[in-house]
Amino acid sequence: MKATVMYGAGDVRIENVPDARIIEPTDALVVVTRAAICGSDLWPYKGMPSSEVGRRMGHEFIGLVEAVGADVRKIKVGDLVAAPFAWSDGTCIYCQEGLHTSCLHGGFWGGTKLDGGQGEAVRVPQADGTLYPLPVGRDHALMPSLLTLTDVMATGHHAAITAKVGPGKTVAVVGGGAVGLCGVIAAKRLGAEQIILLDRHPDRIELAKEFGATDIVSERGEEAVARVRELTKGLGVQSVLECVGYAESTHTALSIARPGGAVGRVGVPQDEVMPAINTFFSNITIAGGPAPARAYIAELLPDVLEGRIHPGRVFDWVGRLDGVPEGYRAMNDRRAIKALIEF
Ligand SMILES: [Zn+2]
Repeated sequence: MKATVMYGAGDVRIENVPDARIIEPTDALVVVTRAAICGSDLWPYKGMPSSEVGRRMGHEFIGLVEAVGADVRKIKVGDLVAAPFAWSDGTCIYCQEGLHTSCLHGGFWGGTKLDGGQGEAVRVPQADGTLYPLPVGRDHALMPSLLTLTDVMATGHHAAITAKVGPGKTVAVVGGGAVGLCGVIAAKRLGAEQIILLDRHPDRIELAKEFGATDIVSERGEEAVARVRELTKGLGVQSVLECVGYAESTHTALSIARPGGAVGRVGVPQDEVMPAINTFFSNITIAGGPAPARAYIAELLPDVLEGRIHPGRVFDWVGRLDGVPEGYRAMNDRRAIKALIEF
């Protein structure tokens, strides 16, 4: 079968790899029908040292179950399923608490040992706990929005939840990539009154306004902080969704939270230390991390199916598997917000 393999920065190839197959009795074999390229795939695309050993890529996919292992009970052959960006057993103490990304028997797709979503098929470990059956056909018109439930929409929602967004609150979303845009959707969905997007790209800003952003701040650094204060009677916002992960964006996020506010961080941190902002005397909560997408699908799915939210609009590039290297280039050059792969 064919799959996406990364060998170093800027070096993504479509190669023949061993066919995915059932190994453990708890596995399912899923033939991929849709996949995506994630902003987080761009971190290795920008900085991975060259390697002889390729790394399988992709962690957002939907597909058809072609086979199941002997111990799989809930997932059936023929199901159309969404696979969240982490796999999990659904039964351990953390899964029971809704934190599937910390599953004691779980893990993440791709790398050197597992299949990735940007390929023709995937061996899915812990199939019963991981996969979420979808009540639609494989080419349903809502497929782009359904695909966002595997990562970016769930991640935007997680940013909003951990930033304690609620009815009537003031919110800032730092970064207008696919996750930030989904963060705008999530904040609006949870009843925020003011949603300030910090970004400077016209295409993203336009979409953010359609999703519910009320104000745009395109300045950076201290100017951005001053502008957010102007927009919030000098106070800062109650909830900040940090959707980038750089030190500068985290610095801004911590600086615009008002006393008693919360910052939900979902951008994968690219620096090991937290910026030295004094959050102690302001009683600011700093939370966030990898979103337990598996826990959020059930809550978000009806809003997608009934047309209340349209997160699939973040996809502005569509291609086939052979076009994946161009999809990476398009996203890396900021010519595309997010790439969808059809099979
Ligand atoms: Zn678990």
